[in-house]
Amino acid sequence: AGIGGASVASPTDVPSPRPTHPSSTPSPAASTQQQQQNGNFLSNFLASNPYFTAGFGLMGLGVGLAAARQVIVRGSNMLYRQLLVDLEIPSKDKSYAWFLQWMARESVALSPAVLSESPRGLKGRLLALRELFSSSHHLSVHTTYKQHDNGSVSANFSLVPGPGKHILRYRGAYIQVNRERSGRLMDLTSGAPFETITLTTLYRDRGVFKTLLQEANAMAMKMQEGKTVMYLSRGPEWRPFGQPRRKRSLQSVILDRGVSERICMDVKDFLQSGKWYSDRGIPYRRGYLLYGPPGSGKSSFIQALAGDLDYNICILNLSEQNLTDDRLNHLMNHIPERSILLLEDIDAAFNKREQADESGYKLSGVTFSGLLNALDGVASSEERIIFMTTNHPEKLDPALIRPGRVDVRELIDNASEYQVRRMFLRFYEGADDVCEKFVARVAELGVPVSTAHLQGLFVYNKNSPEKALEMVPYLKSSYVVN
Ligand code: ADP
Repeated sequence: AGIGGASVASPTDVPSPRPTHPSSTPSPAASTQQQQQNGNFLSNFLASNPYFTAGFGLMGLGVGLAAARQVIVRGSNMLYRQLLVDLEIPSKDKSYAWFLQWMARESVALSPAVLSESPRGLKGRLLALRELFSSSHHLSVHTTYKQHDNGSVSANFSLVPGPGKHILRYRGAYIQVNRERSGRLMDLTSGAPFETITLTTLYRDRGVFKTLLQEANAMAMKMQEGKTVMYLSRGPEWRPFGQPRRKRSLQSVILDRGVSERICMDVKDFLQSGKWYSDRGIPYRRGYLLYGPPGSGKSSFIQALAGDLDYNICILNLSEQNLTDDRLNHLMNHIPERSILLLEDIDAAFNKREQADESGYKLSGVTFSGLLNALDGVASSEERIIFMTTNHPEKLDPALIRPGRVDVRELIDNASEYQVRRMFLRFYEGADDVCEKFVARVAELGVPVSTAHLQGLFVYNKNSPEKALEMVPYLKSSYVVN
């Protein structure tokens, strides 16, 4: 067969597998046949090419797997939403600290001790081992304190699961604890990184969250039971200072006849008069000023009173350098619930006072008008009890101690005869004879004696009232003119 452009194939010719010259114009029937032949060739070629078949198969497999993955991801997401519940506890929330404390106790179950205490038998040990390894690769330390009766404190370190994921078993439910630290965000007041704890459990076990939080809360409350929490201002916030202190009994602070009872009655009456105040549209707050020489028991009394009322104490030092009007206002309006606000040595704030502008005196950081505004502005649905103490009432501006800001003023003075007697008998019960001699000898000294000095003398002569009597002259040498 000719290959040339002019040659035309005769019917007897064997069909050429090669394409004809483009300029040739085959009949329609011939062209369909040609196409069919081409298609057959292509499919034959593809079918017989192992590389292509394998590639195509792989592609199909890939598509299939991707689809399956999608289904699994969606399915697990749906399952997750349907079957699991999350609880998020940010470090800003109060229950965060409670939860960590609870976990510190709970984590005993995650410690190696589990192994020795685990049920006998291979299965029990294996389970304990799994629990140990699945949960406690990354630990962090949580320090708790125990306050002893004599006031000393001992530390106890417990290891709690650190950042990462851990599994806990609580009341038959498995809980995943995910402790996450935010890399960038910091709590500016404490410098600690923000954290979030996410607890995840099965939907059917969601009830354990409530029980768990209640238990953690009850545990935290129990640690504070019988204690008074002292708060100090830190930045714009109130932070507990040290460990909660053991409540001091009111009987242990011996004030002059009737003083303690008078203040207590007034505070208790105030606390019961919420409706009376709101009916008359008066801000529900009451200010108390305790003035008198140092060491007469002012702070001790406020602490004992707080304990008696089951209140905590927020202590604010007005001479603090970086305290500004705004911060003072903010702090005074964001006092933790059930707390007494204590402005200690309020005169100290006026010592360095200098005329700032027509708005008032410049206190160290706080202006005088800022202090008055903050005092007047203390408004909340809750009651507000404000105690101020000073050794120098004469230094106080009359505007500060006018009714509404200071409603009750009490002199807490050096020891009166009544106080000397009561304090003596509190230390040496039954030593009535020596007591009378002691009272007489103190009176003969002719100088005021502070209750703090008396206490010092009694503590020094713990077991001997006679020795205390002998040492009365020393009280005179401890007398300092303020
Ligand atoms: P103030 O606040 O008046 O300066 P404190 O309350 O700080 O005095 O007392 C100092 C110490 O003296 C405390 O340890 C306290 O127990 C003791 N003290 C002072 N006055 C009394 C008092 N009236 N009754 C019992 N203890 C007192």
